[in-house]
Amino acid sequence: MEGKQKDTFTEQNFERKPSIYSLQLNELEMWLKEQGEPKFRATQIFDWLYKKRVDHFAEMSNLPKGLREKLENHFIITTLKTIAKHSSQDGTLKFLFELHDGFSIETVLMRHDYGNSVCVTTQVGCRIGCTFCASTLGGLKRNLEAGEIVAQVLKVQKVLDETNERVSSIVVMGIGEPFDNYQSLLSFLKIVNDEKGLNIGARHITVSTSGIVPRIYDFANEGLQINFAISLHAPNTELRSRLMPINKAYDLEKLMDAVRYYIEKTGRRVTFEYGLFGGVNDQIEHAEELARLIKGLKCHVNLIPVNYVPERNYVRTPRKQIFEFERTLKKHGINVTIRREQGHDIEAACGQLRAKERKEEAR
Ligand code: SF4
Repeated sequence: MEGKQKDTFTEQNFERKPSIYSLQLNELEMWLKEQGEPKFRATQIFDWLYKKRVDHFAEMSNLPKGLREKLENHFIITTLKTIAKHSSQDGTLKFLFELHDGFSIETVLMRHDYGNSVCVTTQVGCRIGCTFCASTLGGLKRNLEAGEIVAQVLKVQKVLDETNERVSSIVVMGIGEPFDNYQSLLSFLKIVNDEKGLNIGARHITVSTSGIVPRIYDFANEGLQINFAISLHAPNTELRSRLMPINKAYDLEKLMDAVRYYIEKTGRRVTFEYGLFGGVNDQIEHAEELARLIKGLKCHVNLIPVNYVPERNYVRTPRKQIFEFERTLKKHGINVTIRREQGHDIEAACGQLRAKERKEEAR
């Protein structure tokens, strides 16, 4: 098993006051203790933040004035400024939010038969460099604090509050590589999962990685019941290296070893995300090779007909070929689905809206 590695970017710059949304319940209890305040206040504060969803400490009317002032002096309640909101015919809503330092991030609300799902961003930009992805074009600018990830869910929840709906699931598949911001990711997961917080069930949360192998081992050892997905996109290491440079650091063999460890350790199924790129990885021989690679694993394949990305040269796989790919996997007993396309008319693929806005800003 690979050893733990230190996050290069995990240390956050707290020159400004930290977001209170970054604190787990037990961390807030500890802070209150240091302030000489009773522990039960943490539950009250969580209630104001996540159930009543207030934007100001002054509104927390059942807290003593002194405590409200202390909160004000130590923390901020992160607010995200909406700079664009695009709605799709299928109900998908894509938000472009501005952070306190002027950087922008994307968050997507997807509407399914089974509820409302939010796709969150974990980093401003990304350094992984997948060749099909618009999010990585400007590189990595910075990690998000846990509170900035939590704030995205809250912001969408507040939109849903207007129609008495709720966020029922979360996918961590927006801009950034979640495992490159590991500690913030873990805090975020614990905060949104807390029944005193947003109370989103672990089995309704999915984290996806491009394949940072040491973190897969760490994640397996966390004992969480979160759904786990791997962006695979290729059935052999040569093709994967061409599509995803991360494969040069952690090749397919190392990745599959880590996946096997994860399944063994957690007993949970893994999802392989497989984007279909016309003429690149979508041939029948690729499906056959993929079936051989994952045969016998407790897994599921999610085929993603990839949106055309203007900055990249990939084209869509024809419908007929998508179904042939699916049939080939099924023939080998592989559990497979084709992802329903959402927000096709609003650049809902990762990073597309942000890339477009950035281009417009640069004009
Ligand atoms: S697909 Fe994900 S990991 Fe790859 S460059 Fe884009 S944001 Fe980063």
